[in-house]
Amino acid sequence: MTAAERVQYRKTIVVGAGPIGLTAALALKNIGLDVAVLESESEGRQRPGSRAIYLHNATLKFFEEISPGLGFQLGENGIIWPVKRTFFRGEEVYFRQYAPPTPGVLPHFTSLPQVEAERYIYQACLDAGIEFFWNTPVKDVKTRKNGVEIVTENGDIWKADYCIAADGARSVVRRSLGLQLEGPRTKDAFIVVDVKEDQHDPLPLERTFHYQHPAVDGRNVLFVPFAGGWRIDLQLLSEDDMEDFGGVDGVRKWLPKVMDPKYVDRVTWVSTYQFYQAVANSYTDEFARVVLAGEAAHLFAPFGARGMNSGVPDAVLAARAIGKATKAETPEEAMSYVRQAAEERRTAGLYNRDSAGIALEHIQGNSPYMNAKRETAAFLVPLVPTTMGRWLDEGPYGPKTGSPLVSTKY
Ligand SMILES: Cc1cc2nc3c(=O)[nH]c(=O)nc-3n(C[C@H](O)[C@H](O)[C@H](O)COP(=O)(O)OP(=O)(O)OC[C@H]3O[C@@H](n4cnc5c(N)ncnc54)[C@H](O)[C@@H]3O)c2cc1C
Repeated sequence: MTAAERVQYRKTIVVGAGPIGLTAALALKNIGLDVAVLESESEGRQRPGSRAIYLHNATLKFFEEISPGLGFQLGENGIIWPVKRTFFRGEEVYFRQYAPPTPGVLPHFTSLPQVEAERYIYQACLDAGIEFFWNTPVKDVKTRKNGVEIVTENGDIWKADYCIAADGARSVVRRSLGLQLEGPRTKDAFIVVDVKEDQHDPLPLERTFHYQHPAVDGRNVLFVPFAGGWRIDLQLLSEDDMEDFGGVDGVRKWLPKVMDPKYVDRVTWVSTYQFYQAVANSYTDEFARVVLAGEAAHLFAPFGARGMNSGVPDAVLAARAIGKATKAETPEEAMSYVRQAAEERRTAGLYNRDSAGIALEHIQGNSPYMNAKRETAAFLVPLVPTTMGRWLDEGPYGPKTGSPLVSTKY
């Protein structure tokens, strides 16, 4: 192959075929832009488990807009748990039952494993005729006034007018452009376990959160059902050694204390996390030719399910801004569209980081003030059940209302 043959051009390039890269590619294609996806791993790779299981209605709406039928497909293949319960040291402090979803309308949310959601989104990309280049790790990216140049590990050069960087938390694109994630790693550690449901004798579909579960020496435990299984999230105490609780052996010690012991033999994935709470200092480069999306742009603790749910609007709004930029009459006008979208999503990123931080503090914070607040709320539940129980129940989600400054907060 000659040097000239190793230079390829596409109008737009997406780096990374995780859920956000797939979404970006669909959104670009949907507005008629030529797009190629460069992905470092192979097609059919095993994706990590224990990640997103909860997609908001707003996310499903975006999918429906960029690929008609996809939002409904994700909705129909997930489950909608109708009940949530919260316990404080073994006593129920909150119960809420939701009406069943209205047929023919996108549900309020859907709960299915991220690997399955990715499968549906990838199939939609194939149906849309999007080009994929697997085993193609990107090594370096440079931007100029008139476009982007991407160099892959094997020395190939890809030129494009615009690029959406969805290459995840360790984003090579972000680093090549000199952009940085800013924010701390949380001190709290979590063991996240997925188990397969027993289809002959399933548990009721109830999302259940325990503050200070008595069976595990006062650690918090969250149970979330998803299509085909359960997510169990154990929140360690500051003095705990992660190795004692993580891994298959660690899980065998504590899981049977909080769940029917049969689930120990139904574990499908175990992960140990200390979450980052970080947002990139800018979502675009100096020439507004690359836009960061998803975990390339931000990392949040998962309380409130803000990661993929905010990565999807990052990708869709970046694609729409690029669409407008390609039709702009002047370079300045083009840049302004991209910069505006990047800034709007960064503002949303900061908001989501803070909200996930509030959720963490709500459930895990150990300041005397927060301890007293939780104790008081639990004590007052019999007197004012709705207000106090609801406040305790909101812990795993963080604040529900958006900042007035952010039009697309999810
Ligand atoms: C325990 C847990 C629970 C979660 N729960 C939820 C939830 O319920 N709801 C929610 O919305 N979010 C949730 N999240 C967050 C969600 O999983 C992430 O936001 C999402 O996976 C980010 O997708 P992404 O496409 O940005 O990154 P990734 O999934 O990391 O994809 C990045 C892709 O880029 C590729 N890549 C990397 N480097 C290169 C390179 N140099 N060249 C080419 N390709 C490259 C990778 O191989 C990968 O395919 C959760 C996360 C965790 C850890």
